[in-house]
Amino acid sequence: MRKWLPLLLVATLACSFLLPTPPTPTPAASTASVAVPSSTPAPALTLAVQPTLALAPTATPAATRPAPTRAAPSTLTGEYRLTAESVRFHPDPRLYSGDVVSIEVLAHDAPHNWDGAPVRLYLDSRSGPPLAIANFRPFGLGGRLQATFTWVWDTTGREGAQTLVVVVAPASAGEGDPPPEQELAVTVTLLPAAERLDPEPAARWAQAESACCIFHYLTGTAAARDLDLIRAEADAAFAHVAQVLDVTQQQKVVFNLVSRLLGHGGFASSEIALSYLDRNPAVTELFSIFAHESTHILDRRLSQSRPTMMTEGLAVYVAGGHFKLEPLPERAAAAVALNQYVPLAVLANRFYPAQHEIGYLQAGAFIQYLVDRDGWDRFLEMYASFQPAPSDAAILDAGLRAHYGLTLAEMETEWLGYLAGLRPTAAEIEDLRLTVAFFDTLRRYQYLKDPSAYFLAAWLPDARSARQRGLVADFLRHPRAPDNIALEVMLVGAGRALYAADYGRASDLLAAVNAALDTGDLLAVPLAADHLRLVSELLLAGYEAQAISLNGRSAEVAAIREWPRLDRLTLVRAAGGWELLAGSRSWPRPRGLGTER
Ligand SMILES: [Zn+2]
Repeated sequence: MRKWLPLLLVATLACSFLLPTPPTPTPAASTASVAVPSSTPAPALTLAVQPTLALAPTATPAATRPAPTRAAPSTLTGEYRLTAESVRFHPDPRLYSGDVVSIEVLAHDAPHNWDGAPVRLYLDSRSGPPLAIANFRPFGLGGRLQATFTWVWDTTGREGAQTLVVVVAPASAGEGDPPPEQELAVTVTLLPAAERLDPEPAARWAQAESACCIFHYLTGTAAARDLDLIRAEADAAFAHVAQVLDVTQQQKVVFNLVSRLLGHGGFASSEIALSYLDRNPAVTELFSIFAHESTHILDRRLSQSRPTMMTEGLAVYVAGGHFKLEPLPERAAAAVALNQYVPLAVLANRFYPAQHEIGYLQAGAFIQYLVDRDGWDRFLEMYASFQPAPSDAAILDAGLRAHYGLTLAEMETEWLGYLAGLRPTAAEIEDLRLTVAFFDTLRRYQYLKDPSAYFLAAWLPDARSARQRGLVADFLRHPRAPDNIALEVMLVGAGRALYAADYGRASDLLAAVNAALDTGDLLAVPLAADHLRLVSELLLAGYEAQAISLNGRSAEVAAIREWPRLDRLTLVRAAGGWELLAGSRSWPRPRGLGTER
């Protein structure tokens, strides 16, 4: 009894669950010009994950490949060196006067014995007390070793070049003489606050509710513009999931609608951060992501100890797919055909390190097999009665024995036999191959060009504290250089082409993005150069491109000049470059647009 709302086509996202928030740095005695950071409550966590570190699908020079976030201690040689590249400022990519600044001091290349080493920050010079102190600790989904200083520097009243001094002391334990303390002065420029780009200067946290949920959003953003659509999709998804799971929602779920893409677009702890923006390469389909997340919320009512593979699989199954509405059995058969199938015991025990898209797909398809085989009720009985065991595979194995009379290995053999009979088409195989390539490319772009968005180390401070303090920039500001915009609209185009089964176009766009990332020079890649020239021409006219559909001599563009209104423009290729046609018009807005508070 699969229930689905047939009119809603989907391309959903992976959700990721945050690891525990690193400890907030200890505020040291503050100087007169420095605000003492308030404590940042760590959100209660629902799940901890280690998603895969997936790299580029195409051949990539070793120098440009993302490195693992942290080398294994056993392979480390040499010493930690504090360099300017170790110090990252937020919100990025630029700082403005009045920002409440956070700082990361990275130590992912450090030998293992630097874990826990103290890091001190000084403003201007070491003469006074430190601005803040923190220790190297694993951070984010990838456990990157770093000292994390969240909102420690209120720059109100300052402008221009500023100096911060970072002092790293080695950890005390160990034999022999400890390595010497390291000190580094870093200069950072605070631009005038008036130079901040729209919609940031006027953006404030606001709140809206629907039947299922509470939404915190930023005024003047796409989320504010589409609020009624968001509310309606969330309510439809939550009602759908409650019906399928036969549970009632007990309290409203809190969403923070973030106006920049972080990771794959969803992070859940006690609240859910959901990226909502027009230029979103992850191609969020609202109903699907809400169905996925609400399954996670509502299935806690069914059972407490469930293998991660089953919780994620259930979310995929109930939402009707992972990245889009998809025939799960045929897609799983395609994974086998692509030789990317992950044995279930391996997947159950290490779900998140497995290839991201394949893991979610297999998990959903396996659940569909169980439901189709013996019915939904039998499956739910097993799901609601998992018992703790030494490993997730053991939990699942015991559940299958108790409710299906088969071991995990026996059920997998039976399922693989079923998949072998499905014979996926060439198009189904190509679609899955490109789906994996698309998300690998998106992650690669983020790693290289928008590192704060890269899912393993995404910069996502506690939104509840941000709301209380009126801080918005960390949830909105992001790289918006012409190269960034061009690469992102190409990824948007690739995602849409894949969604429309236009595999040739999707493949061309992904190849162009990867080639541009290889060299760092968009102009050297014809398709990327075209997009960059279009983006630049639009910027001259005051428009920021959100999506571009390039067709030979013309280009259809969705762009924003007056936030958050989305305009539809046409450009034509002329002798001197791209020219904007007059008579541009607004995109039709979703029905029943909400008003900002
Ligand atoms: Zn999930």
